[in-house]
Amino acid sequence: MAAKQLVLIGGGHAHMVTLARLSTFTAMGFGVTVIQPSEYHYYSGMGPGMLGNIYRPDEIRFATRKVVEKQGGTFVLGRVSAIDPAQQLVRLEGSDVALPYDVLSCNAGSYVPTDAVAAAGPDIFTVKPIEKLLEVQQRIISLSAERMIDIAVVGGGPSSVEIAGNIWRIGRQYAAHAPRIRVFAGRQLLSRPPAKVRSMAMASLTNRDIEIIENHYVKSIEPGRIVLQNGETYPADLTLSAVGIKPSPIFAASGLPVGPDGGLRVNRYLQCTDQANIFGGGDCISFEQEPLDKVGVYAVRQNPVLYHNLMAALTGGELQPFDPGGGYLLIYNLGDDTGIFCKWPIIFGGRLAFRIKDYIDRKFMAKFQAMEK
Ligand SMILES: Cc1cc2nc3c(=O)[nH]c(=O)nc-3n(C[C@H](O)[C@H](O)[C@H](O)COP(=O)(O)OP(=O)(O)OC[C@H]3O[C@@H](n4cnc5c(N)ncnc54)[C@H](O)[C@@H]3O)c2cc1C
Repeated sequence: MAAKQLVLIGGGHAHMVTLARLSTFTAMGFGVTVIQPSEYHYYSGMGPGMLGNIYRPDEIRFATRKVVEKQGGTFVLGRVSAIDPAQQLVRLEGSDVALPYDVLSCNAGSYVPTDAVAAAGPDIFTVKPIEKLLEVQQRIISLSAERMIDIAVVGGGPSSVEIAGNIWRIGRQYAAHAPRIRVFAGRQLLSRPPAKVRSMAMASLTNRDIEIIENHYVKSIEPGRIVLQNGETYPADLTLSAVGIKPSPIFAASGLPVGPDGGLRVNRYLQCTDQANIFGGGDCISFEQEPLDKVGVYAVRQNPVLYHNLMAALTGGELQPFDPGGGYLLIYNLGDDTGIFCKWPIIFGGRLAFRIKDYIDRKFMAKFQAMEK
């Protein structure tokens, strides 16, 4: 009888434990295949810091291919386009080859919608995929060599704050001419976090001459300029869009059950609500029990349950439920060696906040990078 096949889509934050323990599957005779469009998975929490040159790319990424192959699994460099649950096949973009699975786990993450981008241009970027932020950094340095450029950050959420702060850092430390930075925040910068976080972030950015444009939404992002809904335009030599994220579109495209946000609809076992052999975690799922914020914290918390349930699905064991847990800690990297620490009701800003984030992030990386050796 052919060995049962476990297929993982994406080596993201919810698959960290499964990847670390991949050899427990191969040792039992199961075939394991991991599909990802890059040989590396980048840790988003440190992405803005890579943009700001606080971290080198190799400090913020996991060598997925190496980890998989070292433990007897197969790594496929590619992007999944669709899942065929009837035939238990995974299809890849630009390929006729379809990969069979007995158990499938999806950690395909999310993407930044580009509906507002009226015409693509070489200097219009989105904040995801994280690896692109290195290209953004190089582009800013090169465009700033001759003159002061205008940079637009579109979006009013935490990633816009971190991106704007770290572009400032690049401009100040590595560019010949510091750029003019504008954040197009929509109605309000940081409308969801506590008011104290918002006022700290506002003060930090505006004290560094970063302009925050509120009460107006961006109508279109065009090469060289930003057009607001009220018709006003602003120059933008380079634009970075951080307008929020949507779960990977592959589930809707495959006719699988999806939640209101388009994420794979999963029950409390992180199991697809109508396919018992499909599981998922991270930004790409829609958790049936309660909506979960699209933060890495939940993906990380899902790790042990996902690992356990994949093994259980292959061996006929009992599934474990996922408990999202209570509130979570977020620390913003403001790009000037300071941060904002927020775990309700504790909120504070300054160098200590950034040092705590740096410590936690480096520890997380070291833990899972250790298995690459
Ligand atoms: C700038 C920024 C900063 C952030 N900072 C924080 C923070 O400090 N703390 C926090 O908790 N959250 C943070 N977040 C949110 C966090 O990024 C996400 O919640 C987290 O990345 C979700 O992890 P994931 O593994 O589900 O998705 P991803 O990190 O998006 O990983 C998905 C993986 O799947 C792969 N993939 C994608 N599509 C396919 C496909 N079709 N086929 C195969 N593979 C595919 C990708 O290459 C990637 O490796 C931040 C987000 C951004 C944008």
